[in-house]
Amino acid sequence: MTAIIRHALDNGPTFRELLAQGTAELEQAGVGDAKNDAWYLLSEAFSVDRTHYYLEPDKPLRANRLTDSLPRYEEMLRRRSRRIPLQQILGRTDFMGLTFKVNEHVLIPRQDTEVLVETVLEECRESDASVLDMCTGSGCIAISLAVRGKYKNVTGSDISREALKVAAQNGFSLFRAAKGRSGKAGTFLISPEGRTLSLLQSDLTRDLPTGALYDIITCNPPYIPTSVIDTLAPEVRDHDPRIALDGADDGLSFYRRLAVEMPLRLRRGGRVYLEIGFDEADAVRRLLTVAGFQQIRVIRDLAGLDRVVCAVYT
Ligand code: GLN
Repeated sequence: MTAIIRHALDNGPTFRELLAQGTAELEQAGVGDAKNDAWYLLSEAFSVDRTHYYLEPDKPLRANRLTDSLPRYEEMLRRRSRRIPLQQILGRTDFMGLTFKVNEHVLIPRQDTEVLVETVLEECRESDASVLDMCTGSGCIAISLAVRGKYKNVTGSDISREALKVAAQNGFSLFRAAKGRSGKAGTFLISPEGRTLSLLQSDLTRDLPTGALYDIITCNPPYIPTSVIDTLAPEVRDHDPRIALDGADDGLSFYRRLAVEMPLRLRRGGRVYLEIGFDEADAVRRLLTVAGFQQIRVIRDLAGLDRVVCAVYT
């Protein structure tokens, strides 16, 4: 090998340098956890995991390793610098230990929402239950309940066709179906044991199949007051779908409709689990009380904030 070639080969950037450059670029753009995000983008662009990184962090990368990966890394850093959420750039995120596809048409599943799913899994152990998850978005609640709770029938619904496409893809990839079809009426999957997962377009309960009743209803509706949206981080404000955030003037518009619509769709003794904003527990409790719900409880998330309101309809 000539000295010139050796010099060229030895002078590529190292993983450590690329990570430091990426971190600096994201810090400059005001990204909160710049190093974490730069790591995920580096890892994605170069298909490198932590073990691999720590084996040779300071080895200059060869030209063949850089040709495709470096431009990919730079492009992803540019997008993240424009405050596009990491999960949208990667096209996926983890929720309840499952990997969900996401894009700009769905709210990115939040870790806060796992407390809702965990509460349902703990409290509702009847495997023959029918579950309805409205405002399903990526399908993260509905599909986690179907996969982890093994309920007989789970329906996820959303008003957004684009969101339902994402939910359907997640259903096909995460719910082990023996049979499945997707059409105008929705997506229907059946497990080998006969459990079903359906994903349907509906404006809350309005367009659900006539007469369909459920034992458990979950919903993470849009609950941010319109005026508050502009104060949120650019990732949320500019990149989560507004339709998934905006709860109108006081943030409560969906709970008002839910309080009235849910009783018509619940079997006797049916239970509801609604995600709420940190300061909405009292208002939602009142709405559910007036609508005849009982045993109303509020559950906090890991940060200690009110996050889920649960109630029973008898
Ligand atoms: N939890 C989301 C946020 O804080 C809001 C989700 C919603 O409106 N349902 O941005």
